[in-house]
Amino acid sequence: MNIKDERMMHFYELYEQLASATANVNQPPDVPLIESLLGEISAMFRLSKGITHFYRSPIDEQNGKGETMVSYDLKKKDKPVHTVRFLTRLMSITTMTVYMAEDEPPLTEDELSRVDLTMRTTLAYISRNRLQDIAEELAFFDDVGYRNIRSFYNYLSWKGQPESFNGMSAVNYNLRHFSLINQELGRSAGDTVIRNHYRHIEKMIGTKGTLSRLGGDSFILICEQSLLPELLDYLTEAVVPYNEDGNTVTISSCAGVFIIPEGYQFNHTGDIMEKIIPACRLAQDGKQGNIVFYNEKMVSAKEKTMRVQQQFPKALKNHEFQVFYQPKVNTMTGELCGAEALCRWFRKGKLVPPMEFIPVLEQTTDICKLDFYMLEMVCQHIRKWLDEGRKVVRVSVNLSRKHMMDSRLLETIIDIISRYQVPHEYIEIELTETTTDVEFKDLQRIVGGLQEESIYTAVDDFGMGYSSLNLIRVIPWNVLKVDRSFLPLDGEQENSVRNIMFRYVVAMAKEMGLECIVEGVETPAQLEVLRKNHCELAQGFLFDKPLPLDEFEKRLDMQVYPIEMKTAS
Ligand code: C2E
Ligand code: MG
Ligand code: MG
Repeated sequence: MNIKDERMMHFYELYEQLASATANVNQPPDVPLIESLLGEISAMFRLSKGITHFYRSPIDEQNGKGETMVSYDLKKKDKPVHTVRFLTRLMSITTMTVYMAEDEPPLTEDELSRVDLTMRTTLAYISRNRLQDIAEELAFFDDVGYRNIRSFYNYLSWKGQPESFNGMSAVNYNLRHFSLINQELGRSAGDTVIRNHYRHIEKMIGTKGTLSRLGGDSFILICEQSLLPELLDYLTEAVVPYNEDGNTVTISSCAGVFIIPEGYQFNHTGDIMEKIIPACRLAQDGKQGNIVFYNEKMVSAKEKTMRVQQQFPKALKNHEFQVFYQPKVNTMTGELCGAEALCRWFRKGKLVPPMEFIPVLEQTTDICKLDFYMLEMVCQHIRKWLDEGRKVVRVSVNLSRKHMMDSRLLETIIDIISRYQVPHEYIEIELTETTTDVEFKDLQRIVGGLQEESIYTAVDDFGMGYSSLNLIRVIPWNVLKVDRSFLPLDGEQENSVRNIMFRYVVAMAKEMGLECIVEGVETPAQLEVLRKNHCELAQGFLFDKPLPLDEFEKRLDMQVYPIEMKTAS
């Protein structure tokens, strides 16, 4: 065998190794082996350098906008001798050019064909890898470059075995008041804040976990439990730069955390989400703090919720809901002057208190159906009292805030009242304070509309929420229902904050021409406080608890409460 043949044999040996090392895209490539083979082949053909370019599109190629990879460089004064170009079906382009030192003899035709073969094989392999990268980027990253939910699920199924989650935790967190930051600092600063916040957490987690964006300002992550104290600290309060000058803004988040138990078996990849998302929602509510740890009770709460939602339509149809009436009494005369209609659910002979089902029904628009049912029952009863020639008092019905979005609310209310030909002045609608501007506008519209129809309106639980004086300045209510939290307790000092506020709220209501009623009057001393402050109306256990229809009818007939006796007792 002559030298030429030996060289050829050696080339084919190297080439075969290269071909097999680059053949399988499903296995991680043996990069050092591939590089050493390419180095040896380059040396064999006196090549001085190999440069690969990647372009996302032909336009990027034209504009020279791509990535460059130098794979072999003897740093000689050289010139290009051969280029191979690959266009993939996704229109991305990979080119490879090899160089030779200027003083080297040029490649023979034979040599060129072997160099070409090597380059094509290598390029096919690089293009495939590159395509995989692009596909991965499209599948696992959102358009702003954050890992997405698919990437999170992929991580869960890739980790696979239950033991691999031992010592790990899952977290869903939401940045608080993020729209405010966008408003105050501008969108681009907002984007920078989110990115810096994300990068910081990504760095904290390192390779032992994953972080993805669910959308907007909501994120999910898996990390080591040992990292939780530091992570939750950062989530509670993070100082984040929003521009290059180092200006910062403080970001707080709310988070739902699931400590993954040892040997935890997933039923499905959504399993973890079903734990951290409800926990995060509770954290958003804020009642249990900014950070809420998932526990089994949440599941039973969720089951209870689902049960109520499931049973509601049938219960409504079967008249399981009943109106109870709680009397409203004139504090000076003891006269019965009104009542509040409160809902009671009799389920399988047992009474379910409103707090167990009203908040659940408020999660959907079911509450609206119940409120309309209550209004209808009240109208039916008033009609009956009128027909029986009984004394009739004004009855207030509670309407949930869920009605605010209903553009036909007024018509529906009037429709129901008209059906029973109830004079409008016998109906009062109780609405609670609102929290948003949009709701405020709706509230204004609804109260105004009811007023035009001579239907009374009351602001319920005044002072409970974040009361705004605007609420009573701008909206034309008839009645202010002072929440019982304002009512001084027995034996409370005259100059206590509660006493002072109570005095002024009652005085303000009266001065503004609003009817003022205080809820939750339980003791004679409290009744005395009302009288002293010239508050004429009271509702509370001192007089009566909410009563079933027949009991309340007895009160209608009785008409006057013996309050002097009660005060004395
Ligand atoms: P609310 O409208 O503020 O009703 C007053 C609540 O205070 C009633 O509770 C009543 O039983 C209670 N209460 C009355 N006097 C006293 C007292 O002296 N001491 C104490 N501690 N409590 C007193 P209830 O009936 O359990 O209703 C709770 C809430 O459920 C109501 O608060 C209202 O927000 C809601 N609700 C009840 N029925 C309906 C309804 O038909 N529709 C809607 N949307 N909400 C309703
Ligand atoms: Mg009420
Ligand atoms: Mg109330």
